[in-house]
Amino acid sequence: MPPASPALPTVDTGLAWDHRFADLGPAFHTRLPPTPLPAPYPVAHSPEVARLLGLDPAWLATEDALQLFSGNALPAGGDTLASVYSGHQFGVWAGQLGDGRALLLGETAQGWEIQLKGAGRTPYSRMGDGRAVLRSSIREFLCSEAMHALGIPTTRALCLMGSPAPVLRESVETAAVLTRVAPSFIRFGHFEHFAARGQTTELRQLADYVIDRYYPACRTTPDFGGNAYAALLQAVAQRTAELIAQWQAVGFCHGVMNTDNMSILGLTIDYGPFQFLDAFAPGHICNHSDTQGRYAFDRQPGVAYWNLLCLGQALHPLAGEVDTIRAALQAYPRTFQDALARRLRAKLGLSSPHEGDEALVQALLTLLAQDGVDHPIFWRRLAHAVDSGDFSPVGALFSNRAAWAAWLLSYSERLALVDKALAAKLMLKTNPKYVLRNHVAEQAIRAAAQGDMAPLHTVQRLLAHPFDEHPGHDAWADFPPDWAAHLAISCSS
Ligand code: AMP
Ligand code: MG
Repeated sequence: MPPASPALPTVDTGLAWDHRFADLGPAFHTRLPPTPLPAPYPVAHSPEVARLLGLDPAWLATEDALQLFSGNALPAGGDTLASVYSGHQFGVWAGQLGDGRALLLGETAQGWEIQLKGAGRTPYSRMGDGRAVLRSSIREFLCSEAMHALGIPTTRALCLMGSPAPVLRESVETAAVLTRVAPSFIRFGHFEHFAARGQTTELRQLADYVIDRYYPACRTTPDFGGNAYAALLQAVAQRTAELIAQWQAVGFCHGVMNTDNMSILGLTIDYGPFQFLDAFAPGHICNHSDTQGRYAFDRQPGVAYWNLLCLGQALHPLAGEVDTIRAALQAYPRTFQDALARRLRAKLGLSSPHEGDEALVQALLTLLAQDGVDHPIFWRRLAHAVDSGDFSPVGALFSNRAAWAAWLLSYSERLALVDKALAAKLMLKTNPKYVLRNHVAEQAIRAAAQGDMAPLHTVQRLLAHPFDEHPGHDAWADFPPDWAAHLAISCSS
């Protein structure tokens, strides 16, 4: 148990609260306050998320907000708790995990859960210190908002507070608390937890809660003879498939796709050693701790399916026969293939399918991989090339010019079938100019560690509109510098 903390002051946010997750009962969580954080200072906030919650963005700059969102005060009317879950980590059953450093502050009446990450130890901290470091918290803050701006389902980030308090990781770093927001932070691992313990009553309670709140259509669908739990599995498989297709299309590596890091709502959750691809390398491993490459970029679609199998197994006591579960899970490969094909086509400016598209896409991906072409720059230049008709800046990215020229010929034939202006427009809205690559995050982090938040705020603004040109900021959309090749991002955060 964490040490008892002195009574914390309360802050009135003006928010109306609701406590539906808390009302599930003590089998699901432990109530406890955050651990105070010394000398907090504001690092960043998202005005958009503030407005989403019904908070005045200006209020986030106040002393009250600073104290509340660093864990030094409690929200009036809130209900602070850590939830329990289990999960498979790197393919191995890890048993009980839980919110080891995350704390639910409460749930707004509009249905947003607000969570502090890095708010101190909980009964689920195991060997951890309950803290998060500034470096990783900046990465999560920037990336969750960047993903949202890319149209990719994700938890959101309200604000980030830092502290000079030292935190030991591979070296000594400083602490930070990230306030994140989502309709729910329930993971596959929440279901695995009760299934593994044979707690079928709680398992059913959790599934009913998730269905009633987030998947009400599962109650009325005729699929699976009206079995709402099988329908839930199918719906989660579909959402997960749509999510992973978006990751693959944009070149996002999550890095730690353990079942406890898989959202039941199909959101990107728990940003750790994630990376956006620089050079296109299908087998890229972004997590320094992932020695086997289990979570390599091109293994993500398969791993998501494996994780869904774990969820299916957990739902077995409710969803019935194995054949029913298998049928529900079939939604994953079907949805994924269609979604990925659709998204890759859109990157090429092709809004509807045509015979030969798949071969065209595959040939391109092979070329990109062979030449290790920079992924974001390639797609953005291609969009501009379709717009202007000048493909030479794209060709310059390839060393195998003959292969590129051959591919371009078949692409040009395909483009002749569509309205080029519309294609270019679609591409410029699909292929972002600004992407949170490791070197971009690193520059924001290094400046912030010196007390200079300006680069972080600039990057945040660019990533909020990643498809816009933002004249004068091209350097943030450039190739990674040489020093970035040595950045190693591990699980430790
Ligand atoms: P992750 O894979 O980083 O999402 O975390 C796996 C588990 O470890 C979760 O249950 C986290 O709550 C917990 N955890 C990670 N880092 C810490 C930490 N510094 N202190 C306490 N628990 C942690
Ligand atoms: Mg996690």
